[in-house]
Amino acid sequence: MTSTSLDLRSKISTNLDYTRDGVQHGHLTIPHSRNDSPWGSMLMPVSIFKNGEGPSILLTGGNHGDEYEGPIALLKLIQKLDVAKVQGQIIIIPALNYPAVKSGTRLSPLDGANMNRAFPGDPDGSITFMIADYVQRFILSRVDAVIDIHAGGKIMNFLPTAVIHNLPDPDQMARTKAAAEAFGAPNCLILEELDARGMLDTAVEEMGKVFVSTELGGGGTSTPETIRVAEQGIHDTLVHFGALQAAPLGNGKTRFLETPSNAFVIADKAGMFEFACNLGDTVKEGDVLARVFDIDRPAEAAAEYRAPCDGIVIHRHLAGLINRGDCLSVLGIPV
Ligand SMILES: [Zn+2]
Repeated sequence: MTSTSLDLRSKISTNLDYTRDGVQHGHLTIPHSRNDSPWGSMLMPVSIFKNGEGPSILLTGGNHGDEYEGPIALLKLIQKLDVAKVQGQIIIIPALNYPAVKSGTRLSPLDGANMNRAFPGDPDGSITFMIADYVQRFILSRVDAVIDIHAGGKIMNFLPTAVIHNLPDPDQMARTKAAAEAFGAPNCLILEELDARGMLDTAVEEMGKVFVSTELGGGGTSTPETIRVAEQGIHDTLVHFGALQAAPLGNGKTRFLETPSNAFVIADKAGMFEFACNLGDTVKEGDVLARVFDIDRPAEAAAEYRAPCDGIVIHRHLAGLINRGDCLSVLGIPV
C-alpha cells in the first residue's frame, strides 16, 4: 500500500482509509530521521473496523508507555473483533505514545514529552506533539466518543477505576456518566484534575464528545483482574454506544466517587516511604495515610501524612522512595 499525506501541514501520513468498510491493520508513518536511519520513519499501528453507518468510537492505550491494561486489552480486541458485529466504526490505537510504549516509560524517550499534556499538539513540534496534532485533527474530528485506558504506571497504584470529569454541559455529562456506568469498573471517579491543560481528555471534552478514561491498577504491570476490567469495560461500552452488536458481559455495578481538591495528599519531604493503609480502605479525617523517613537521621520522627477528609483510599504512591512534591495518596468520597 502507498502512503498518502492527508494534509500538507502534518508530516504524518497513513496507509489507512478512514472511510472504507472492512478491517484495516495499518499505521501512521511518522518521519524520524536519525543516525541509524537517516530517511527513517516510525510506523505506529492503527487498526480500523468499519461496517456501514453508525457511531464512530476511538479506543486508545499506551497514552503513557508504562501502563499495560490498555495495550494488552486492545491487542486482544484487534485479534478477535468480528467486523460483521460492528455497526459504524471502531478505530483502535493500542500505543498512542508509540515511542514511550516501545521503551516502557511514561514519557517519550525521544523528546521527554507527556502525550497526555501535548494536546492539541503541533504539526511542527517534536514527535509527541506531531502525533497529538494528527490525532486531534484527523481522528478526534471524526469520532463520537473516546475510551482511553490508563493505569498507574511504575510509580502509582489505583483501585480499578473509570475516570470522568465534571462537565458544564448537563447533556454531555449525562452521556459521559452513562458510558462510564456501562464500562462497569468497580469504581468511577469524577476527578478534579490537578493539571487538565493538554490532556486528551480535555481535547475530546471541549469538542462536546464523550470521553471515558480509566486508572486500572499500576506498578508498571497488569493483573488478570485489571485486564478483565479493561476488556469487559471496552466491550460493554462499545455495546452501550451501539457500535458493537453483542450482549454485554457485565463487569458489575460501579461505585461513583468524587475528589475535592483537598483529597490529593502531596509530600513536602523526600525520603523512605511507608504507606500505612491499603488501597480501598475507608479512612477518617486525621487517620495516618503514610510516613516518610529520613535514612540519614535515624532518631528523627517520620513525617506523618494524614487523611484530609473522610474517604476511600483510591490511589497510593507505589515506589519505596518519595520526593518532595510527589502525590502520595488520593481519597475518593462516595457521591
Ligand atoms: Zn496514564
